[in-house]
Amino acid sequence: MSTTPNENAAPASNFIRNIIDADLAADKFAQRRWRGQPGAAADHGAAPLDPARIRTRFPPEPNGYLHYGHAKSICLNFGLAEQYGGRCHLRFDDTNPEKEDQEFVDSIIDAVRWLGFSWQDDKEDNLYHASDYFPWMVAFAEHLIVTGNAYVDSQSAEEIRAGRGTLTQAGVDSPYRTRSAEENLDLFKRMQAGEFADGTHVLRAKIDMSAPNINLRDPLIYRIRHAEHHRAGNRYCVYPLYTFAHPIEDALENITHSICTLEFEDQRPFYDWLLERLAETTTLADGRVVGGLLQRPLPQQIEFSRLNLTYVVLSKRKLIQLVDEGHVDGWDDPRLPTLAGARRRGYSPEGFRLFAERIGVSKSDSLIDFTLLEDCQREALNESAERRIAVLDPLKLIITNYPEGQREDCSAPNHPQKPELGSRTIPFGRELWIEREDFMEVPSKGYRRLFPGNLVRLRYGYVVRCTGCEKDADGKVTAVLCEYLPETKSGTPGADSVKVKGNLHWVSVADAYTCEIRLYDRLFAVPAPGARREGDAEGLERNFLDDINPNSRVTITAQLEPALKDAAPEARFQFERHGYFVADRVDSRPGAPVFNRAVTLKDSWNKG
Ligand code: ATP
Ligand code: MG
Repeated sequence: MSTTPNENAAPASNFIRNIIDADLAADKFAQRRWRGQPGAAADHGAAPLDPARIRTRFPPEPNGYLHYGHAKSICLNFGLAEQYGGRCHLRFDDTNPEKEDQEFVDSIIDAVRWLGFSWQDDKEDNLYHASDYFPWMVAFAEHLIVTGNAYVDSQSAEEIRAGRGTLTQAGVDSPYRTRSAEENLDLFKRMQAGEFADGTHVLRAKIDMSAPNINLRDPLIYRIRHAEHHRAGNRYCVYPLYTFAHPIEDALENITHSICTLEFEDQRPFYDWLLERLAETTTLADGRVVGGLLQRPLPQQIEFSRLNLTYVVLSKRKLIQLVDEGHVDGWDDPRLPTLAGARRRGYSPEGFRLFAERIGVSKSDSLIDFTLLEDCQREALNESAERRIAVLDPLKLIITNYPEGQREDCSAPNHPQKPELGSRTIPFGRELWIEREDFMEVPSKGYRRLFPGNLVRLRYGYVVRCTGCEKDADGKVTAVLCEYLPETKSGTPGADSVKVKGNLHWVSVADAYTCEIRLYDRLFAVPAPGARREGDAEGLERNFLDDINPNSRVTITAQLEPALKDAAPEARFQFERHGYFVADRVDSRPGAPVFNRAVTLKDSWNKG
């Protein structure tokens, strides 16, 4: 089930690149014109040649927050446009009046920008709303009526469903299928004028009720909905179906490669049928020549398999349930697989781009191991994150031969592989915080850290020898005692003369920034939340909520080096020996950041 991340993988194969290479080699799109904004053939006709070698689009429906799966599609579409000297449009597919909202529009814009992509440059601003194309869609639907390719059906929804047939049985023609073009046009206009109630009539494409592909059995293209649209208001009371609207949106925008997920594969014949009917010319009975509404070559639909991840649910319904029932703290909860959550958690855009490149694009369903995403985040954060010191489970260390009240500066590099990022000073003193696990009164075998008699280096500071500890009445260690070796300060001549095996991090008690830290982990404790597991009794139904990891968030109070007090919201750091952390963008206050753990330094889920 799990795929192993391959550290040195070359860019994953991408069959879509092969298609584009071939199209460009054949100059397939070279003659398209572009007037600087979407339009029909007549609008683009006299305009200059399209400067974009290809056009792709990312077309979210603004009915929810974007998730990790959308990141795959965003990186793919915007990435291809970048690589090929093309353009990628951000298009809100807002043709469905009921479910859409400005809040979602804003969050989608934020997420795409955050991932580092842009639909704007000095020449073009390719942010579109499909609802702005309603006038074209209505006109195109009327054209289909006039050319005998669409009709108004007045059967009930139930009758239409029954007449469609099944996989093994052909459908039957609607009794309204033979209405004249005049009658159809009159009815469709009256549908638009609001004369009819919801559900009384629909407009259907006239294709073939016995087509083996059910999607070609006179699919619905327009229905009546007396609903308020978040942009168009009450202007319309007919709305197009997605399968009719989407190809038209692509064609108006000069999209060359319309990339979508596999479940639309069976829709491709209708996609092609529709655009061809609108692009071709037809001679009507009265001798008029009509058509040529869309520019050629027409857009081409290409399907790829959607992202599925272990330990994660991406279904919109389940995400809504997690938020609404309060299992998480909202759409940007760092544990949710939304991009708003990922951002708050401290994941980086570069990590997502790396992930998208590594998983590649294919047509076969795949389940990706969550570890691969974490590894990509680690890799990207290792590159960019400055190092800082944090003690997460503090225990006091007292240097008994260091003068009371004395302080001195130690120097620590901000990034071990990047000297250009400089260094910072960290204060050293008689009392320090160390990790509780860095001391054992009675050491276990192979333990190299502090125990009575042992020498360790306090990283960027001195070598110390442990001399003992103090305990409370219950026998719990309250402080570790040691003596420092004055000639061993890091960076001074001869500092290395004393060899030690342990190298500990620490924070000066007098200067530490005491702070809240949220240790985030996977939201689900099992690879396939809610799925049946081996050994489950016959008929047992699992609920994905029962698989929530009870330790997905642990809040602690930690001791941090003082420089972290000034961390700006969203600044990401590696806390040495612990992992990657970010200053929370919501709960941090100036001079008082709180931190979230994005990911640990090493994977602790796939042991062995
Ligand atoms: P819905 O089920 O409501 O349609 P959706 O996840 O398909 O939800 P859209 O807003 O329609 O949401 O998606 C926008 C784009 O993102 C589409 O082109 C879709 O194919 C792509 N996409 C959605 N989910 C995934 C996924 N898991 N992996 C890759 N691409 C995805
Ligand atoms: Mg969708």
